[in-house]
Amino acid sequence: MASTSARKRDIDEGDELANVEFETSEGVEVVPTFDKMGLREDLLRGIYSYGFEKPSAIQQRAIKEIIKGRDIIAQAQSGTGKTATFSIGVLQSLDTTVRDTQALVLSPTRELATQIQKVILALGDYMNVQCHACIGGTNIGEDIRKLDYGQHVVSGTPGRVYDMIRRRNLRTRSIKMLVLDEADEMLTKGFKEQLYDIYRYLPPGAQVVLLSATLPHDVLEMTAKFMTDPVRVLVKRDELTLEGIKQFFVAVEREEWKFDTLCDLYDTLTITQAVIFCNTRRKVDWLADKLREANFTVCSLHSDMEQKERDEIMKQFRAGESRVLISTDVWARGLDVPQVSLVINYDLPNNRELYIHRIGRSGRYGRKGVAINFVKSDDIRILRDIEQYYSTQIDEMPMNVSELI
Ligand code: ADP
Repeated sequence: MASTSARKRDIDEGDELANVEFETSEGVEVVPTFDKMGLREDLLRGIYSYGFEKPSAIQQRAIKEIIKGRDIIAQAQSGTGKTATFSIGVLQSLDTTVRDTQALVLSPTRELATQIQKVILALGDYMNVQCHACIGGTNIGEDIRKLDYGQHVVSGTPGRVYDMIRRRNLRTRSIKMLVLDEADEMLTKGFKEQLYDIYRYLPPGAQVVLLSATLPHDVLEMTAKFMTDPVRVLVKRDELTLEGIKQFFVAVEREEWKFDTLCDLYDTLTITQAVIFCNTRRKVDWLADKLREANFTVCSLHSDMEQKERDEIMKQFRAGESRVLISTDVWARGLDVPQVSLVINYDLPNNRELYIHRIGRSGRYGRKGVAINFVKSDDIRILRDIEQYYSTQIDEMPMNVSELI
């Protein structure tokens, strides 16, 4: 943890988010306490019972703007409380005397959609709120039953949500807020088309809330198509920054040497909890098998697995029953397991955004974190590029790395 004076530095100083393309809009207030946000009593009670005392920098700025009903684009680093930001905004806007769906939250992975559902239910514990996770890989009949019962909030992945909208089990007529978490991911590749399909079903004038730690320029340009004069909230440097995450590399030279390096690090991995990232599902399977053959205990998760199995692994990992998780980028964004203090990039990620999301699985809400990158000789160039892009420093891993965790 950085010293108090270092942590208290002005949040707009520095440029750790090197990919920022905008500044906070004028007129955005800073509300220093939850009490002063004008929240409903039952929600406020939920927030304090959940253990939050003081809002984080993004919460101090963005919650109020969401409540005002404006379209909003919010960017702040991983682990600084964006989920609670939009969850509180959503909950405050609900009319719980009816059971219509009033807010739709979309995110890129099933695990993240489920995590968001849990946060909304927890913060809304005293509000009698219904919130359903509408995700692929689950029983459709069950989905239909839950939706027919009535859900104030639906947190889902685009495919299943669209399916439920088309079947008219998810009725969109009363939706007044659309939240896109991990917005840059949601607006790229396969998701974009699905997103526009869903958007077309929403009432005109529905409020759009976008959040991510990374918002590249091309994505920001795209937002003009479905947002009206959005207010922008940018927190470049929170008092809880990625400064808390120490980044290192190990020069492994060749692919074959990564495995032994990892075995040597196993005791370090289990000090608390660790996530190891590989770039393909096959490699995740291969690495998990090979480690188990060598008598190491690990679990693994990727999108080729049955949802039931994914759920089980997540449950065990969240409970701390398993300490080392090997995964693909399905785990790179948004997932919050506070005990994770070490991230290993067994393979370097395929783009700069993924790097910052992956290492952000550690060091949640200002905790200590360590990221270790395995670099082959021909990867050094990529590492230097990341280092430069984020104006950060990635040193060679020291012998005493376990003392930093
Ligand atoms: P992000 O979405 O920005 O990556 P999360 O919303 O997942 O971050 O929050 C990261 C962690 O910080 C979570 O464990 C969450 O419970 C915790 N957290 C969020 N806001 C607060 C707060 N105001 N006070 C204390 N802990 C918080």
